[in-house]
Amino acid sequence: MTQLLYQGVEGEIDATSTICNNLPDAPGLDVETGDSSDPKLREECGVVAIHGHPDAARQAYLGLYALQHRGQESAGIATADGQHLANIKGMGLVSEIFTDDVLAKLPGNMAIGHTRYSTTGDSALLNAQPIRVDSVKGLIAIAHNGNLVNLGNIRARLERDGAYFQTTSDSEIIVQLIAHSRAGTLVDAIADSLSQVDGAFSIVMMTRDRIFAARDPRGFRPLSMGRMKNPSGPDTIVFASETCAFDLLRAEYIRDVLPGELVMVTEDGVTSRQYATGVPQSSCIFEHVYFARPDSRIFGRWVQESRDQMGRQLARESGVPADLVVPVPDSGVTAALGYAEESGIRFRLGLIRNHYVGRTFIEPEQRVRDFGVRLKLNPVRNLLEGKRVILIDDSIIRGTTSRKIVRMVRGAGAREVHLRISCPPTISPCFYGVDTPSKRDLIAANKSIEEIRRFIEADSLAYLSLEGLVKSCEGPEHTGYCTACYTGNYPTQWVDVENILPATIGI
Ligand code: SF4
Repeated sequence: MTQLLYQGVEGEIDATSTICNNLPDAPGLDVETGDSSDPKLREECGVVAIHGHPDAARQAYLGLYALQHRGQESAGIATADGQHLANIKGMGLVSEIFTDDVLAKLPGNMAIGHTRYSTTGDSALLNAQPIRVDSVKGLIAIAHNGNLVNLGNIRARLERDGAYFQTTSDSEIIVQLIAHSRAGTLVDAIADSLSQVDGAFSIVMMTRDRIFAARDPRGFRPLSMGRMKNPSGPDTIVFASETCAFDLLRAEYIRDVLPGELVMVTEDGVTSRQYATGVPQSSCIFEHVYFARPDSRIFGRWVQESRDQMGRQLARESGVPADLVVPVPDSGVTAALGYAEESGIRFRLGLIRNHYVGRTFIEPEQRVRDFGVRLKLNPVRNLLEGKRVILIDDSIIRGTTSRKIVRMVRGAGAREVHLRISCPPTISPCFYGVDTPSKRDLIAANKSIEEIRRFIEADSLAYLSLEGLVKSCEGPEHTGYCTACYTGNYPTQWVDVENILPATIGI
C-alpha cells in the first residue's frame, strides 16, 4: 500500500489517496549496502522537465526512471496544458507510483518531475516534490535538487510578511520569495528570488504555460538541456539532472544550464539570462566520484572518464603487489578497471552484488543489522582463494561496512586484502544536498589512516590524493570543483557549526 498526493487533478479532490501495489512503507534504508548502520552517502534528488510533447507526463516518467539512482524514497510529476496544473506524488520508486492509470491523470504538453531520497512519515509525502503553490503570481510547481544554506533568516522574514508555509522544504521558500517579490514580471521575480538564496540548487519550475530551469551561481549540482526532434512541429525541450535521462528519451544533448543562469521555455522558444555573475564555480566533485551514472556527462565531462582516471591515478599513487583487482560493485567498477589497466594486475568481479534485494525483505531493522552487507554482496570464493586482492571502493563513511567487506573477502580465502579508495578521506559533512553524517560520525575525521586500516582490518589502506582527484575530473571546460567534504573548506559562508564539530568535542 502506498499513498499518493493529488493536487489539481481533474476528477480527484486535492488530497491523499491510498493505492495498493504491494509496497511496504519506505523504510529509509540504504539501498547501496542494505545496511542501516553504515549507509553510503545519499544524493537527495534528481529533476527533469519537458516542454512541448503531447504526452509530457510519460516523458517525465522515463526521465525520472533513468534518474532513479539519485533518490528512491519518493517521486512526483506535475503537468500543465496551458489552463490547468496538476501534480501527483507518492512514496516509493518511480515505476511503483506512476502506473498507466496514474499517468493518465496527468494530461498536458509540459511536465516537471522529481525523485528524492527523504525520511519516512507523513511529512515526507508532503515534502515530496514537485511542490505546487497557488501564489499571487499564479500557480507554480517547483522541483529542486540541492540544499539551501541561508534559510532561517529568509523564512522568518517571509513569515513576518505574511507567508504561510505548507511544507518544510527549501523549494517552497523559493516559491514564497517569488510570490513576495516586487518585480513586475514573473521571470524578473524568479531571478530576484534566486539571487537572494545561497547554497546548492538545480531547479525546474512550471507555470500553466512556461517552464523554467536554473542553477545556483556556483553550479553545485548538474543540470543539462536537450532536445527531441519532432517531425511535424517545434522541438521538445528537455532538462535533466544527468544526461543519461536524455538517452532513454532519445533526446540530443544541447548544453549544460550554466551556473547562475535562468532559462525560460515558452511556445515562442528558449530564452536565457544570467541572474548572477562573478561567483567562482564550485561543482560537486563527489558527483564524479559516486553519485552520477558513468554513462552521464556532467560539468562538461563524462563520469566514466573521470572514474577511469581516478583508478589509474590511484594505481600510480599507491600501487601494491597483488594478484587481483576487485571492485566493490557497482560504483567501484569503473575506477577498478582503470586501476587494473594502469597496474597491469588482472581485474576480476570477485564480489557479486544482488540487485534484487527488495525492501520488504530487508525489514525489520534488526534483521538488516544481522545480515549486514551479505544481503547485497557475495564473494566469489574460487576467484579469491589464496589470492592477494586489491579492493577498490569509492568511500569509507563510518568504516563498519568497509570492515564487513574486508572480512568477507578474507573469509572467502583471500591471502591479503588491500583497500584502495578512489577519493580522499571524507572528513567533513556536506551542506549542499548530500546526506552525510556529522563530523563526529565520519571515521576519517576522527582517526588517522593507519587507525582506520586497523579498524577495517585491511593489510593496507590508501586513498586517492586531493590533487589526484581534481586532476582526474579535469575536463576541457576547466570546471571549478567543491571539495569541502575532503578539506572542510566550504564555498559558502553558511554552514551548520554543530555538524562540523569533531567527535572529541562534548565527550
Ligand atoms: S561538500 Fe562534498 S558532497 Fe557536498 S557539494 Fe561539496 S564535494 Fe559535493
